[in-house]
Amino acid sequence: MRLRQQYLTRNDCFQAARPLQVQGVMVHSTGADNPRVCRYVPGDEELGRNTAGNHWDQPGITKCVHAFIGKFAGGEVGTVQTLPWEVRGWHCARGQKGSGNNTHIGFEICEDSLSDPAYFAKIYQEAAELTAYLCKEFGLDPLADGAVICHQEGYQRGIASNHGDVLHWFPKFGKTMDDFRGQVSQLMKGEDEEVTYEQWKEFMEQYRKELRELPAGMPELLADAKAMGLTDGFRPRDLVTREEAAVMARAAAKQ
Ligand SMILES: [Zn+2]
Repeated sequence: MRLRQQYLTRNDCFQAARPLQVQGVMVHSTGADNPRVCRYVPGDEELGRNTAGNHWDQPGITKCVHAFIGKFAGGEVGTVQTLPWEVRGWHCARGQKGSGNNTHIGFEICEDSLSDPAYFAKIYQEAAELTAYLCKEFGLDPLADGAVICHQEGYQRGIASNHGDVLHWFPKFGKTMDDFRGQVSQLMKGEDEEVTYEQWKEFMEQYRKELRELPAGMPELLADAKAMGLTDGFRPRDLVTREEAAVMARAAAKQ
């Protein structure tokens, strides 16, 4: 995850600054073909700059999310946080039972033409990493009912307006929201994994075996050293022990 911050301090939602008790994360996508985050934020050198004056850092916008995922200036995908996580956003309006704005952090993924698998793979991974980060931060189980949902799922649960995102996009590349939640859960587990000392020794053994099998990087010089009786020439890229170093120094000193 590449996480930067550019708060939309002039947005009416930021100004309202109502507190949010985070109970979930809602995933949105913008519904417009423009993958650059600087479409929505004023931007800077790293994020790219909005030159059209249509970013959301101004009064009268009537919507605001906690973050945007999309392309930065150099074309690489990243996340720009636009509201403090614990300030209530304006991202999903309301449904028959209430509003997810009162419960969920909401972020937008900048859409492209929805036909590029390379861009999709990057935003999917970035969105999963951001969601995993938020779930950890706020003690959420991504697999718990209603914790991690998209806008359309929010509508189905009666807490959001009737928008299709992200179910008009993810399935085009074979991904469901269940897949997404599973990916988030996997990422969270991965981060908790610790290497035991026994495993570390196994890795070390494996690493040294790999080194032993590497060919010499300086074959002529090694052959020369071997001819001079300084080394047996075996395992040229392996780590050297104090004992081996002493034997080699001894051979050199004797000459
Ligand atoms: Zn939405």
